[in-house]
Amino acid sequence: MTRKLPIIAVATAPGKAGVGVIRISGPQLLPIAEALFHKALTPRQTNLLTLRDARGETIDQLIAIYFAAPASFTGEDVLELQCHGGPQLLELVMKRCLELGKDQGLVIAEPGEFSLRAYLNNKIDLAQAEAIADLIDAQSEAAVRGAARSLQGVFSNDINALIEEITQLRILVESTLDFPEEEIEFLENAQARQRLSAVMEKLHKLREGAKQGKILRDGIQLVLAGAPNVGKSSLLNRLAGEEVAIVTPIAGTTRDRVKESITISGIPMHIIDTAGLRETSDLVEAKGIERSWEAIQAADLVIFLQDSNSINAIDSAAVLDLKAQILKALPPKCPVLEVINKSDLLANEASHQSESPSLLISAKTGDGVETLKQKILESVGWGGSQEGAIVARRRHLDCLDRAATHLDKSQQFAADGNISLELFAEELRLAQDQLGHITGKLLPDDLLGKIFSQFCIGK
Ligand code: GDP
Repeated sequence: MTRKLPIIAVATAPGKAGVGVIRISGPQLLPIAEALFHKALTPRQTNLLTLRDARGETIDQLIAIYFAAPASFTGEDVLELQCHGGPQLLELVMKRCLELGKDQGLVIAEPGEFSLRAYLNNKIDLAQAEAIADLIDAQSEAAVRGAARSLQGVFSNDINALIEEITQLRILVESTLDFPEEEIEFLENAQARQRLSAVMEKLHKLREGAKQGKILRDGIQLVLAGAPNVGKSSLLNRLAGEEVAIVTPIAGTTRDRVKESITISGIPMHIIDTAGLRETSDLVEAKGIERSWEAIQAADLVIFLQDSNSINAIDSAAVLDLKAQILKALPPKCPVLEVINKSDLLANEASHQSESPSLLISAKTGDGVETLKQKILESVGWGGSQEGAIVARRRHLDCLDRAATHLDKSQQFAADGNISLELFAEELRLAQDQLGHITGKLLPDDLLGKIFSQFCIGK
């Protein structure tokens, strides 16, 4: 999966900027650095240097920093070139580096290859490598802080501590396997069941934290549905405006505008407006509608908005039909919030006497919107505390879920009347493997490749 060749990439974002950074990493970089600058570079010192083309003409005056292996991000020799940040200029610098690094086999880096090398050289584990990508992609301040904690190893440390506890338990169990007649006695003496319960409790806490972490990282897919004119856009603006949040169409959907992103209490909300869900012969619009349905299938929450003026009125057949279709398309257990808008139009008593379980709001005055926000966050399981939160991914949650299933099974094999230390130990091992996958231990190469290939180039 890995190549030993030196790699190069622009590490900064495409476009014009004051500074653009090019990163080179590889087993032997000094010869390349010398060819570039005709100067021996001292590690970890800034060097103001001039880079010239083959004819001796200046390409750029830049700052070069050389990090000698293994004290670098990737664990290999690393050369960082801080150039001026013009796309054409960076292109020229790259070209010159590739020319002069040809003998050493210098090649352009694959997406995520720098992080992959850092991982393979044990500078960071897999969860930390993922946290780098999450830090860069973070959609809110809370997500930045969460990713920074994961990158520092907060999540990995908890996982490793749990793995260690399971290891200790396994050592105990496996050392007794040769004495089957002592199984019951062993379980009692070693307090194996209590220790297993403690491990399960810790895993449960980790899962809860990771669930929060996934919300922090990915945000919430919220479907906003209802008849025309019930106030969907007004509600969206109200939710966005109050938080002084950014209302931006998701890139690529400007023509179909099916999705808006806002943040509520620091949690990104991707709102799918179902207003556009209709029959169409326009190909682009049809594509947008198809994407809306895909988003609905992955929804975390749906809000059905009604107009207070029509609570008792029967919704039109078309609206009911759309509602039924949406309900059918939602993932299992997706919470549904019924919300009635335009409370300001209700007579005072009516709004107080309403026995409907629906939430009453006014997008116009903001009445009830705060409660709605809390309800939205509660419905998707957001615990409300960003204190100490980490970021996590679906992959982590899946591993934690599988580990929990194995621990459940191991508990069954240690239950009275059903004791099998061998199976007990085996399930412990399987649980441990799943936890190890989170930090990258024993993960198959193809999966690793898949994870890192989702990173962008230069990372
Ligand atoms: P949409 O078609 O569901 O997106 O509905 P809009 O947000 O465009 O609102 C339709 C109309 O209802 C507009 O004239 C809004 O000003 C009005 N409206 C929206 N929310 C409220 C509300 O809470 N109270 C009152 N009185 N009018 C509202």
